[in-house]
Amino acid sequence: MESAQPLDASQLRYQYTTTPREVPDAEILAKNKQTICTDHMIVASWDVNSGWSTPELKPYGPFNLLPTASCLHYAYECFEGLKAYRGHDGKLRMFRSDRNSQRLLMSSERISLPKFDPIELEKLIYTLVSVDGARWLPKTRAGDFLYVRPTIIGTDSQIGVAKPTAALLYIILGYMPRVDQPVGGKRLMTNPDDVVRSWVGGFGYAKVGANYGPSLQATEAAYRQGYHQILWLYGPNGDCTEAGGSNFFVVWKRKDGKKELITAPLDDQLILDGVTRRSCLDLAKDRLEDEIEVTERKFTIGEIQEAVSEGRLLEAFAAGTAVSSDS
Ligand SMILES: *Cc1c(COP(=O)(O)O)cnc(C)c1O
Repeated sequence: MESAQPLDASQLRYQYTTTPREVPDAEILAKNKQTICTDHMIVASWDVNSGWSTPELKPYGPFNLLPTASCLHYAYECFEGLKAYRGHDGKLRMFRSDRNSQRLLMSSERISLPKFDPIELEKLIYTLVSVDGARWLPKTRAGDFLYVRPTIIGTDSQIGVAKPTAALLYIILGYMPRVDQPVGGKRLMTNPDDVVRSWVGGFGYAKVGANYGPSLQATEAAYRQGYHQILWLYGPNGDCTEAGGSNFFVVWKRKDGKKELITAPLDDQLILDGVTRRSCLDLAKDRLEDEIEVTERKFTIGEIQEAVSEGRLLEAFAAGTAVSSDS
C-alpha cells in the first residue's frame, strides 16, 4: 500500500525566532561579499518509506548532517534561484515562480532525489517571503529584492553509490552580494579547448550543484586575463551555449538584412531552460514582431566573428535571474 505522504504546504508548522537579527542597511549591503540570510527558513524532510514530513518554518541556522550524508559524497544536490521584489506600490512580488518550482522538480528527478508537487513548493516560498519580507524587505526599499534559494539534498547515510533514501528540502532567503555592471560591458572569454561545461547526454539542462564547481577553474583563469565570464562553446563547430551561469543571446543582422535575436536551443539538453531566457524570447516575439525575428537554434562563434567582420553584430547579452547585463 502506498502510504508515503506528499509535500503539503497547508500543514506548515511555525516556530518563530526569539532573537531576530539586524537587517543590514544600504551601506553594509553595498560592501557585502557574502549572502546574508533572513531570520527564518523552511525545511521538509523526505524518507523513502514515509514520504514528506510536515514542513516547518524555523529560525535560520545550521543543519545536523552525518559525514556520510549522500549529498556530501555524490553531489545529490539541486537548487533554484529566484527573487522576491518589493514593488514601488509597496507590494511584494515574485516573478514566474511556477517555472522555478517545476524546474526544481525536473532537476531533483534527474539526480534521483524525490518528487513533490511544485505548487506546494511555491506556496512554501510565498509563505517564507511573506513572513520575512515585512522586516527584511520593507516598503522603504521599493525596487530592491531578496534572493530565494530552494534546495534539495540527499541526507541518507550511504557511502555506497545508491539512490538516496532520505532527503531534505529547504528554502532560504537573503541578500546576495551586489553585482555591478562592468564599465564598458561584459567581456567573455571562450572556454579552453579541453574544458566543457556540459555535454550531450549529460545534465547541463538541470540546476544541479555538480554543474558549477567544476566550471570555476576556467572562470578564474578568465578573470585573471581580464574577462568577466566564460562563453561556453560546444562541439567541433564551436556552438555558443551559455555565458557563465546565464543564457547567451546575440542580436545581429542576418545576411539577408533581417534583424534577428538568437539564442541556443533546448533540444540537445546542453543549456539551462532559463526563466529569463524564455521571458526575453516571449517579450521580443510579442512586442518586436515587426522589427526582429526571434530564433532558437545552434549558432557558432565563427558566425559571430563573421558578423563582426561584416559589421552586422548589433548586440550581445547574458540573461539570468542573478544577473542580466549587456556586453
Ligand atoms: C540559473 C541559470 C540560468 C538562468 O536561469 P534563470 O531562470 O533565467 O534565472 C542560466 N544558465 C545556467 C547554467 C543557470 O544555472
